[in-house]
Amino acid sequence: MKLRFDRSLGWQLGLGFTLLAGISAIAVGVYLFHARQHLGANYTALVADVVRPQLHTTLLRSTLNEFREQPQDNQLIERFDNLLWRIPRHIEGVTFGLSQSRLAPGSYESYLNRLNSVKERLPDIKQALDEVASGEPPDQLIQQGLTIENDMAQAYSKLSHLLHSEAAKQRIVMDRLAVGIAILILVILLLAGGLMLALIRLHHQHKKVLKLSLMDELTGLGNRRYMLNVTELLFEQSQRSGLPLSMALLDLDHFKRVNDNFGHPAGDQVLRAFADALCDEVRKADIVARLGGEEFCVLMPETNAEGALEVVERIRKRVAGLSHQELGVPTAVTVSLGLATADNHDTSFDHLYGRADQALYEAKTSGRNRVVVD
Ligand code: GH3
Ligand code: MG
Ligand code: MG
Repeated sequence: MKLRFDRSLGWQLGLGFTLLAGISAIAVGVYLFHARQHLGANYTALVADVVRPQLHTTLLRSTLNEFREQPQDNQLIERFDNLLWRIPRHIEGVTFGLSQSRLAPGSYESYLNRLNSVKERLPDIKQALDEVASGEPPDQLIQQGLTIENDMAQAYSKLSHLLHSEAAKQRIVMDRLAVGIAILILVILLLAGGLMLALIRLHHQHKKVLKLSLMDELTGLGNRRYMLNVTELLFEQSQRSGLPLSMALLDLDHFKRVNDNFGHPAGDQVLRAFADALCDEVRKADIVARLGGEEFCVLMPETNAEGALEVVERIRKRVAGLSHQELGVPTAVTVSLGLATADNHDTSFDHLYGRADQALYEAKTSGRNRVVVD
């Protein structure tokens, strides 16, 4: 089994970033839409409050004109009376609306003062109207009426102008704000994207370093460090579960001669062919590592001595049967193997390793190309 490392984190980070960017974009779009509508509606209401009473000035003027013709007309007097009641209500409405707005009081104070002075003069006009109703000539009433009509018309017109120009300014501010927020979001997204890329790169580098620190470059198998990490764990598991754990140490026979006869690169090729054959013959759950030089190790979890012997015999035969083509050198290669299966006496991994090493030594001294079981 060659080393494999998880590659899905980069995808997960990318997907997370895309989702985050999508959700932020939707949230900002909804926010801008609502903010724009809300602020627009505020000014629209105020403008309506000011435009409505402007009609009073027109109504007042036409009523006054009609008075010249028919000063004693009861319907006219009633309409005038009604106007005198409505004018202050609307002045109060406009005053309240302006006080609730975000406009600076200084910008509309003078117009409100003018409207309030109209309000203060209304009782006099009411009195003049009562006098006309009781038969007095309408001249004074018409004079006073025209004065307040003029004051109201000017004040409302100025207020209307003020509100329209403020609304226009607000629209410009909103447009700039929208552009500003869009740029801000773009910058944040770029930063977040850059950060993500840096994190992904860092993660890949970390994986690479980790892989290199545990991998044998020549064969792609785990190295001695990898073997120690994994097997100590497997040994503890086997001790806890009581399930057998078998370990085989392998050493190529007379490998020095291969180097001497065919050169070091050819020796490397033989080591690679040997590693591939080894991986072919073991099962998925078995761990294969190159301990160094031409020494290898196979760990077989949940495998008793009998099962392990079957595996290592298969390996030995396969290696001895490797063709010159597979090996890349015109000679046969054999391997010696020492096999040990953990039992109750193996209180540590080192002990098991020592037994397998001793068995390998015996395989070497008793003629090579063989398996010795401890
Ligand atoms: P024995 O049967 O007793 O194991 O004999 P041997 O020649 O295999 O053992 P020895 O320990 O004398 O020699 C091992 C050789 O393996 C020596 C060294 O040049 C060679 N070797 C170690 N690492 C590498 C490697 O990465 N590539 C190559 N080509 N050769 C290597
Ligand atoms: Mg050796
Ligand atoms: Mg050797």
